[in-house]
Amino acid sequence: MIQAAYDVIVVGAGPAGAIAARKAAESGMDTLLIEKRLEIGTPVRCGESFELHTASQYLEDIPNQPWVNTITRYFSIHNTKGDCVVVPPISPSIICDRKIFDREVAYTAANAGVQVLVNARAESLLQDQDGAVVGLKINCMGSPLDVYSKVVIAADGTESQLARWAGLKSIPALSDLYVGTQFLVSGLSGQIRTDTSHYYVGEAIAPGGYVWVFPKSADTANIGIVISGDRAEGTSAQGHLEGFLQEVFPRARSVLGQVTGGIPVTGGLKRLVTDGLMVVGDAAHQADPLTAGGIVLGMVAGDYAGTTAAQCIREGDVRAQSLSRYEKRWRERFGKQQRSLRTVRRMLTKMDSDLLDGLIRTAAGYDMTRISPAKAMIHMLTKHPRLLIEARVLINSGLIMK
Ligand SMILES: Cc1cc2nc3c(=O)[nH]c(=O)nc-3n(C[C@H](O)[C@H](O)[C@H](O)COP(=O)(O)OP(=O)(O)OC[C@H]3O[C@@H](n4cnc5c(N)ncnc54)[C@H](O)[C@@H]3O)c2cc1C
Repeated sequence: MIQAAYDVIVVGAGPAGAIAARKAAESGMDTLLIEKRLEIGTPVRCGESFELHTASQYLEDIPNQPWVNTITRYFSIHNTKGDCVVVPPISPSIICDRKIFDREVAYTAANAGVQVLVNARAESLLQDQDGAVVGLKINCMGSPLDVYSKVVIAADGTESQLARWAGLKSIPALSDLYVGTQFLVSGLSGQIRTDTSHYYVGEAIAPGGYVWVFPKSADTANIGIVISGDRAEGTSAQGHLEGFLQEVFPRARSVLGQVTGGIPVTGGLKRLVTDGLMVVGDAAHQADPLTAGGIVLGMVAGDYAGTTAAQCIREGDVRAQSLSRYEKRWRERFGKQQRSLRTVRRMLTKMDSDLLDGLIRTAAGYDMTRISPAKAMIHMLTKHPRLLIEARVLINSGLIMK
């Protein structure tokens, strides 16, 4: 069933890998997508929320897909004192069933001509005498095989081994790692709004991170937490989450599922390519450094990598310098944004709890549909002069204009 050689092999059938494979195939490449698990999409390690607008470039008619649980059109930010700001985002969020979602994205790849295989694990790289990647040693449904390719795309997620095998420095500092856990909670009828994604912040709630409540239905929600890796010693994300549930949703007693995982939030690996190899998605640390959302960013990276791989193969040059057109394109679109969001996370992590509570309390008094960001900022600075020190960080990061 499996061939001895392909143009492109993609490792990992998450959203980043499936889109990378699809784009390579759509560009005329003979493409293999391998997934080590027996089933694509499980186990889920995700809050299952993503932004609709960008994802619509890759999937048709999203709001009407069977894997959509809810669509939220607002997000609310809560402090430790019970104040809450409600903001309409630029684009609605989809809360999905990732078990079905991931399989559907992989199906679009298969439909574009990709050969998709589960129970197929990449075990090591095949490299030529100069160290260029020329394929993979694979265990495919129990059989060891050497499979050659012109380009390998590593989309093997947070614990990516391929990036490490290729010599890319991929272990994040603890301060750039979120440690997360999530419960699927039922018994929430009348206690949540299904049109709103809720976020709770503050040192007492989630040290260096936040809690989210993403409604899956009128009665159920993904309720999860991330805390900063450098704050995890002596505390536990799960302990904080249990405390939050008792305090905020004391009547919700049933947990129908749990997921745990780490998410690197460095804003991106320093290098995304080597000779014959590209890295995308969580394997490349491309998740949003503030929220840790990585589904859509991974899909965009997959698009750029798959398309660039095809171009380079057609031109007959798959050395790092040629493949780095993918890296350049990614950095031009997201580099500044990722750096800014990382700065904001670091600033929020260090911010005094009273100041953070005060800012949310003040913002709760604004009509968010009417007030401009500049006017809100000036008012905030007048009310909370200590914010001036923090604002300097934001100005330097380019997030707010001088
Ligand atoms: C608790 C938690 C909550 C989150 N919530 C959200 C959220 O609400 N929204 C959001 O956008 N993001 C969220 N994320 C992040 C999101 O899940 C990831 O950013 C996203 O899945 C990245 O996609 P990917 O394709 O890069 O990697 P993955 O989805 O992790 O896919 C990688 C795939 O590679 C496979 N693989 C690994 N090694 C091999 C190998 N050697 N051979 C073959 N296959 C291999 C894995 O089995 C896996 O299927 C959350 C993460 C966590 C941990």
